[in-house]
Formats: sequence, C-alpha cells, structure tokens
Amino acid sequence: MIRVENLHKKFGGFSAVDGASLRIETGSITGLIGPNGAGKSTLFNVIAGVHKPTSGRVWMDGEDITGLAPHQLFHKGLLRTFQLAHEFSSMTVRENLMMVPAGQTGETLISTWFARHRIRAEERALRERADEVLNFLTIGHLAEERAGNLSGGQKKLLELGRTMMVDAKIVFLDEVGAGVNRTLLMTIADAIVRLNKERGYTFCVIEHDMDFIGKLCDPVIVMAEGKVLAQGSADSIMQNEAVIEAYLGR
Ligand code: ADP
Ligand code: MG
Repeated sequence: MIRVENLHKKFGGFSAVDGASLRIETGSITGLIGPNGAGKSTLFNVIAGVHKPTSGRVWMDGEDITGLAPHQLFHKGLLRTFQLAHEFSSMTVRENLMMVPAGQTGETLISTWFARHRIRAEERALRERADEVLNFLTIGHLAEERAGNLSGGQKKLLELGRTMMVDAKIVFLDEVGAGVNRTLLMTIADAIVRLNKERGYTFCVIEHDMDFIGKLCDPVIVMAEGKVLAQGSADSIMQNEAVIEAYLGR
C-alpha cells in the first residue's frame, strides 16, 4: 500500500531521516521500532504530510503522494493519530468524534460544528457512528464525559476512535501505548487487530513495548540513525546482530 523510496529529511544540517526505503503491505500490521532519535516519528510525519521531505518519494497504491497535505491524505484514507487538541478537551467524547469527518477538511471547525447542529439528520448519523465507535472501543459509557477528564489510556483510545469515524485505509500510530496501563494497552491491541481483520485497515505502529510489537506486528521494521536497519518477523529481528548493537549502542 505504501512505498517509501530513499527518503531524506534534514532539520538544518542534521539528517533525521537519512535515505530510508520501505514498504507497508496492504492488510499488514507493520511495526516500526528503533532507539530514541532513530527518525521514526519524523518518517511518519513525512509520510503523513506534516513535514515535506528534503528528497525521496512516497507512493500510496501506486500513486505518488509525496508532499501532499494532511487533509489531502486524509481524503485518500491515510491517517495519522494526533494527541487531542487542547481546545476540544471541554467537549464530550462523543462530540470529539462527531467533529472528525468535517474537521479534517480545512473548514473552520467550530462553524462546521454549528452548521452540523442545524442539519439534524446528518447529526443523527454522525452520532450513531460515534456511538458505534465508542462501543467498539469498549468506552461507550464515556460518551458524555468531557474529553479532558479521560485518563491517558482512554485518550489514546479516543485518538484511535477518531480514525474510525471515516473509512481509513491505513493508520499510522505513534506510540499509542505510551504511558497506558496494561489493561488499556490490551484493549488498544484488540481494537487494532479487529480493525485490521474486520474492516481491512492496514496499520503502521511505532511502539517501544516489544511484547506489544511481538504479539501484534508482522513484519517489524527497525530504524536506526535515520535508516532502515532490518526488517522481518519480531523473532528474527530480535536475534539480528545489527539490531542488538543499535539498541545497546556502539
Ligand atoms: P524517534 O521518533 O525515532 O525517537 P524522531 O523522528 O523524533 O525520532 O527524531 C529524530 C531526530 O530528529 C532526533 O535527533 C530529533 O532531535 C530530530 N528532530 C526531530 N524533529 C525535529 C525538528 N522539528 N527540528 C529539529 N530536529 C528534529
Ligand atoms: Mg518518536
């Protein structure tokens, strides 16, 4: 689904991504791991249109998508999760989800929200979809809660939920399990597997928890110093000498 070719991203003179090439197969849950500073988040941000690459190309289903803006990629079904914006923390969990289909088009969010209020039928459909998403994620009981009151883990579930308000093809998750307790981490893992199996979502997942990666991801891609160091099953990469060396430091 995604092909990245010889991608470079420099910040000043520093190469955060330094000639990375990789593929994400349709239907896979691909893991992306590597030491801190390896360039994983920067790679995600370039693929998802947050940063323009210094050089190199990104393809989606054979189409060159290099440098497209996030909202253009959103319409193609390529989504990256973002932390909840502060201004939405006083809205309810359900309202946060109902914003999503309009909120990524570049229109003014708030005016869209009020316009939507007037269009009852459309609002009802959005509301039903939001509640389906919340039930799928086992947080239906939190629909009326203010988003700002959620625990860290519940916020991560809501971030994942936002990708379900539209028909995504591929979702990029950057450390969606960070700081999340074990139970919620397993709920997140279950949701990812179900979205993959039942709705055909492809995932690319950055995560430090190797247990999570090992259970969920095949293949696993390892980055170090802006480059792809290895790729394979979780078991094979954990026995790879170059990977062990990258983690232990030279
Ligand atoms: P990872 O996600 O693998 O931990 P990052 O992609 O966040 O790594 O960062 C890779 C390197 O690029 C780091 O050394 C980081 O300091 C640097 N970097 C990331 N974003 C920026 C930025 N916006 N400006 C300058 N340097 C950056
Ligand atoms: Mg990162």
